Amino acid sequence: MQRIPAKGFAIHSKDGKFSEHHFTRHALGEKDVLIDIHYCGICHSDVHSAYSEWHDGIYPMIPGHEIAGVVKEVGAHACKFKVGDQVGVGCFVNSCKACAPCADHYEQFCPKVVFTYDCPDHFHDNEPHMGGYSNCIVVDEDYIIRIPNNAPLEKIAPLFCAGITTYSPLRFSKVKEGSKVGVAGFGGLGHMALKYALAMGAEVSVIGRSEAKKEQALKMGAKRYYSNVKDAKGANLDLLISTIPTPYNMADYLDVLAYGGELAVVGLPPRDNPPALSASALIKHGNKRVYGSLIGGIQETQEMLDFSILHNIYPEIELVTGQDIDRVYHNLTHSNAFFRYVIDMKKSFGA
Ligand code: NDP
Ligand code: ZN
Ligand code: ZN
Repeated sequence: MQRIPAKGFAIHSKDGKFSEHHFTRHALGEKDVLIDIHYCGICHSDVHSAYSEWHDGIYPMIPGHEIAGVVKEVGAHACKFKVGDQVGVGCFVNSCKACAPCADHYEQFCPKVVFTYDCPDHFHDNEPHMGGYSNCIVVDEDYIIRIPNNAPLEKIAPLFCAGITTYSPLRFSKVKEGSKVGVAGFGGLGHMALKYALAMGAEVSVIGRSEAKKEQALKMGAKRYYSNVKDAKGANLDLLISTIPTPYNMADYLDVLAYGGELAVVGLPPRDNPPALSASALIKHGNKRVYGSLIGGIQETQEMLDFSILHNIYPEIELVTGQDIDRVYHNLTHSNAFFRYVIDMKKSFGA
């Protein structure tokens, strides 16, 4: 079987810049689908990975795990999709299909999960998998999300990470009509958390670190906006989702929870200064619970997409091209970013 020629935007070292990169993807297997990528969102996880902030990255690296496109070809025994269907791919592209997490539809916790980039592909000779800042991708049909054919692909792409990562803890914590939910960090993930929580009937507070996005938060439906976590002390929230990507004092965020409230941690700051919680802060904090949450499984991702379309919940996006990636990363690391940047692949490559 022939490998598939591809092109994308790669970074070659943690201090590098992005440039066009030509490579090949593994051949189309019997259950695989070849997807023509139209849009790919830029997540702050891409920045952490590209700059080796979590671990030493695998280079050259083509990030991108908020992928939306159209089916171009299907393998001989792939039966879930047909040529021309609109589809999406998120943060992982394969798993073992046999372990307990896979059986529970939490494939993201499979020991053999293949994350979409910066990860060896355990099912293809451990070749590093390349992400969605690219013109195409080949994925096992079981890891592809169906998108209705009239839905806006450019706004749907970010749902495959920013959407599912915030939808999942809201469901896990059983947010309902009247729940008091907080969102800490109001960027790509944070504004999706706000929109989902509102759709579930919650009263939402946003905690940022400046006044910059106050007006937008209130306009999107937040009841309160705090520009400093200390001001939110005593807010009595049932659930606070932290999407903060920089070092912070976690105990401050327990202070805003109600008795028995929950802190869902999804933001993952760099390894050199990770947020920590002392046993005493945890024990003295009135039966509060802290948990981490990692994206969501395929089944829940499809549920999230259906929910988003039903309730008309989409991210605020700015379209960019592959030539803009370094600038976007600069904005994301210098408090100067729009909510979600999405790469328009069709406009990104020369003729
Ligand atoms: P963005 O950069 O789009 O948004 C982050 C927001 O947090 C910005 O608005 C930023 O505001 C704000 N912020 C930064 N530092 C603080 C602080 N100390 N206090 C309050 N607000 C702060 O990032 P994303 O939403 O794309 O990603 C957020 C985090 O979530 C990243 O760490 C990412 O890796 C992680 N993530 C985790 C996933 C999971 O499965 N657990 C999945 C996807 C992402 P400002 O403008 O002031 O900088
Ligand atoms: Zn992401
Ligand atoms: Zn598994």
